[in-house]
Amino acid sequence: MPIYEFECLECDGQFQSLIMKRGEMDGLTCPGCGGQNLKRLISRVAYHVSEQDRLNTFDPTTPKGDSFYGDSRNIGLQAKKRAQQMGVDLGKGFEDKLEKLRTDPGSVIKDSD
Ligand SMILES: [Zn+2]
Repeated sequence: MPIYEFECLECDGQFQSLIMKRGEMDGLTCPGCGGQNLKRLISRVAYHVSEQDRLNTFDPTTPKGDSFYGDSRNIGLQAKKRAQQMGVDLGKGFEDKLEKLRTDPGSVIKDSD
């Protein structure tokens, strides 16, 4: 269930609201001043990002910091992106290996002995 954060343009107040369905946002008013001039703060919403989305937005040319590599879901993304760009299908075996690498790095090192 997405919790959206809003900023009231009338009083600069910020508040959160649980939006269950489209359209519910239309009748929303600021709890501080009752104003309806609201701006949704999109960046604060924790969207679920799919693997495909990650891949699509992943730019291999920008330098990645520790936080990028600290996220295990990003492991192997560079290899997949390259493969996608070259039109190479890495196959199910690669996916399996990647999944292992992300969840249990020790087992992969053992396997490749
Ligand atoms: Zn307000």
